[in-house]
Amino acid sequence: MAIPFFKEMRIGGYLIKQKLLGRKRYPLVLMLEPLFRCNLACVGCGKIDYPDAILNRRMTAQECWDAADECGAPMVAIPGGEPLIHKEIGEIVRGLVARKKFVSLCTNALLLEKKLDLFEPSPYLFFSVHLDGLKDHHDKAVSQKGVFDRAVSAIKAAKARGFTVNVNATIFDGHPAEEIAKFLDFTTELGVGVSMSPGYAYERAPDQEHFLNRTKTKKLFRDVFALGKGKKWNFMHSGLFLDFLAGNQEYECTPWGMPARNIFGWQKPCYLLGEGYAKTFKELMDTTDWETYGTGKYEKCADCMAHCGYEPTAATAAINNPLKAMWVALRGIKTTGPMAPEIDMSKQRPAQYIFAEQVEKKLSDIRRDEAAAAAAKQQQKASSAA
Ligand code: SF4
Ligand code: SF4
Repeated sequence: MAIPFFKEMRIGGYLIKQKLLGRKRYPLVLMLEPLFRCNLACVGCGKIDYPDAILNRRMTAQECWDAADECGAPMVAIPGGEPLIHKEIGEIVRGLVARKKFVSLCTNALLLEKKLDLFEPSPYLFFSVHLDGLKDHHDKAVSQKGVFDRAVSAIKAAKARGFTVNVNATIFDGHPAEEIAKFLDFTTELGVGVSMSPGYAYERAPDQEHFLNRTKTKKLFRDVFALGKGKKWNFMHSGLFLDFLAGNQEYECTPWGMPARNIFGWQKPCYLLGEGYAKTFKELMDTTDWETYGTGKYEKCADCMAHCGYEPTAATAAINNPLKAMWVALRGIKTTGPMAPEIDMSKQRPAQYIFAEQVEKKLSDIRRDEAAAAAAKQQQKASSAA
C-alpha cells in the first residue's frame, strides 16, 4: 500500500509547538494498520505476505483509539492491508474524528462505493485512494484488470457525496516520466490531490526488480517536474520534500516521524521496516536505537527516499528555515544543474533478517491466546452445566 498524504500546513502549528517545547523526537502522523488482509495482491506490496492466522487478525476499535491517544500525532493515516475489509472501520474512523485527528483512510477503493454509508464527510476525514498510474499501468501494478475503473468510479461517487478524496501513487522503475505526467494531469482533471512516493524495496515484495535506486529516483522526478512546469498539479506534499525527490536537498530520514502501529505492536523503527516491536509508544521511542537507521547507516535503508521517512524531515526543515521553503515554493523545483551531494554509504551496517522469527513469535502468541480462550470457554460451559 502506498503511503497517504501529508500536508505541512495542516500540522505547522503542531510542529512549532514541539520546537518551542524543545522536543527532539515527536510523531507527526500515526500509521495505523488495523489489519494486513487485502483484497488485492500487488507485486510491489510488502505488507501482505503473512500466514492466514496473521492476516485474519484485526486490531479492535479500542486498540486503534488507544494507539492514537498514546502517540498523540495530529494525523492518523490508515493503510493496511485494505482497511475497508475491517468490520469496525466506520466506528474506528468516527472515534478518531471525534478526537479531532486528521484521518487519511488509504484504500484501493474496490469496496469504497459500497461502504461510503459507513462514513460522514468531515474536514477531518480524507480518502486516499491507491492509484499507481493510468489505467493500463495501475491494473498491471495491482495484478488485476478493471481496478482502475472501479477506483475512479468510487472517487467520483465519494466526491459527489461531499468527501475529500486524494490519490496516492507508488512509483516504480520503468514508469516513464511522460506517463507519470499524464497521470498527474488526469488527477487534476479528477479534482483530487495527489501524493507520490518511490516504492520502498520491501524484502518480501514479489517483484524485486522494479524498485528505484536513489539516483534513478532523483532523475525520474526531475523529468516529471520538468514536464509539470506551468501546470497546477495538486501535490499533498511539502515543497521541500518534492525538492528532495528531485535531488536538490540532502536529507537524513526521520524514522520516528510516522510511527506505525499494527497487530504486532509498535513497529521498530518505521512503517517500512519491521525490525522488532514495542508494546507501547513510549517503549518504541525510548528503546529504538534510532541512530542505527537511515540511508548510509543501514543496508535496508540504502535506497529509501520514501515519504514516511523524509516528509517529516522536510517539514521540520521548513519550520527551521522558512525562507528556504518559501524560496522553493516561489522558484519551483529545480530540474537541471548539479544535485545535492549523496549520503556516504561506505559505513552502512549489513542488513539483518528477522521476518521469519517475528512471524513465528506472533503465531505462537496467537496459538497461546486461542488455547486460553478455548480453555476459558470450556470452563464456563462446565460451570453452567453444574
Ligand atoms: S492494495 Fe495496498 S495493501 Fe493491498 S496488496 Fe496492493 S499495495 Fe498491498
Ligand atoms: S531510511 Fe528511514 S524511513 Fe526509510 S526504511 Fe530506513 S528508517 Fe525507514
